Amino acid sequence: MDLMNAGITLIATIRKRKTRMRKPYWIEKEHLFDGTEYVCSRCGARFEEPWEECPACGVRMKKIKYDPVCVDEAEMLDILLGDE
Ligand SMILES: [Zn+2]
Repeated sequence: MDLMNAGITLIATIRKRKTRMRKPYWIEKEHLFDGTEYVCSRCGARFEEPWEECPACGVRMKKIKYDPVCVDEAEMLDILLGDE
């Protein structure tokens, strides 16, 4: 019983630490037509450049995570041009 309680406490601690360690970052989105944009992982604001700090919410960025969206847009284009 005591061991089980200790286990539950440990899991709760790890979960809490994981949440705290989630750092803000830029999501780099490469668009088929509009070029590249950077989306703030915290507030969702979009910019053309990866600033050191988000100009919208002021959070300091640690890294850039690449998130390709070209595939979706290319697929959408296929659908748009498909029923010719
Ligand atoms: Zn932001």
